[in-house]
Amino acid sequence: MTGFLPFTRPDLDEETIAGVAEVLRSGWITSGPQVRAFEAALSSLFCGRPVRSANSGTATLELALALCGIGPGDEVITTPLTWAATPNVIVRAGARPVFADVDPRTRNIDPACVEAAVTPHTRALMPVDLAGLPAERDRLYDIARRHGLRVIEDAAQSMGASWRGRPIGSFGDLVSFSFHANKNITTGEGGCLVMNDEIEATRCERLRLQGVLRDDDGGMDVAEIGGKFNLTDIAARIGLGQLARLEEFTIRRRVLARHYFAGLDGAAALGLDLPAADFTDSNWHMSQVLLPLARLDIGRGDFLRALKARGIGAGVHYPAAHLFTAYRALGWREGMCPHAERIGAEIVTLPLFPAMSEDDVERVCAAVTDIFEHHLR
Ligand SMILES: *Cc1c(COP(=O)(O)O)cnc(C)c1O
Repeated sequence: MTGFLPFTRPDLDEETIAGVAEVLRSGWITSGPQVRAFEAALSSLFCGRPVRSANSGTATLELALALCGIGPGDEVITTPLTWAATPNVIVRAGARPVFADVDPRTRNIDPACVEAAVTPHTRALMPVDLAGLPAERDRLYDIARRHGLRVIEDAAQSMGASWRGRPIGSFGDLVSFSFHANKNITTGEGGCLVMNDEIEATRCERLRLQGVLRDDDGGMDVAEIGGKFNLTDIAARIGLGQLARLEEFTIRRRVLARHYFAGLDGAAALGLDLPAADFTDSNWHMSQVLLPLARLDIGRGDFLRALKARGIGAGVHYPAAHLFTAYRALGWREGMCPHAERIGAEIVTLPLFPAMSEDDVERVCAAVTDIFEHHLR
């Protein structure tokens, strides 16, 4: 690929585009047969567990919190290294987000910090699989079991990933995925929630569409107020086309990620921090390095601009969320999650998507290494 290399780009094939055109001509474009087919396909990927789709991964997190009955007076433990959606939904449910620090090796929530953060008000854990590397499921579920907590897995980034060989979503409590345009498979915007039983799934169906319950005589009732979170058939048809390619995408991402390790060898020896080298469980949603800023004579912004000047798009995913203004207003401060704060300040997301070539990876590695070497103190 020549020209500007973005950090990610969706891969939509002609079969999917033709399928979407068919839906558009069918006379039914909102939730219908495509949504049911997409949910059935997702359920079989997750070993038959009940799955319901929604119009975003934020919506599925909100639905999960509602299913758990989480609200005012409750605490939910999560990671600061995540997209703003994760702590935001906790606040929007009326509960208090409690940030636990991360393990600097995985950059995911550290179970020891989770254990230390449990109080009598804790109701749930909300771990995140940053960059598609699964958070420590065994220890987190052990903590949840011992303290009687729900687990809402924010698996927005880990579609296609696994934990010790078992697909994320195929086990556990509530598991939420996102199909945002930048995720490993997309519906444009969308998400899905994996649940434990049909009782939860039926309640989820009602909550995603105003809480309406229809009867056989054409009448309806609302017993529990719901929102407006349903996915369209247009989006679900994109999802079906994408799901068919999930394995291919994951394999390709792992190959490119491995190539990054080879290309960044030299910079790593000089202090560039590479991600955990997991090529079996991670889906490599992102390829992220840490700049040792204390040893460089430029800041992260300058580093990103230098890459951009060479036609390479890089990003920041994410600054530590507990230091955002809205969370400072809840009492969160520097020093409360020191690993997450440092990583959030140093992290850079390099381009990684299935349609990239090995040459593209080599070009990024050469640019990163060159800029890095020139600015080492
Ligand atoms: C993308 C993402 C979400 C939200 O998903 P949307 O579909 O954009 O609403 C939540 N959590 C994490 C970790 C994400 O990456």
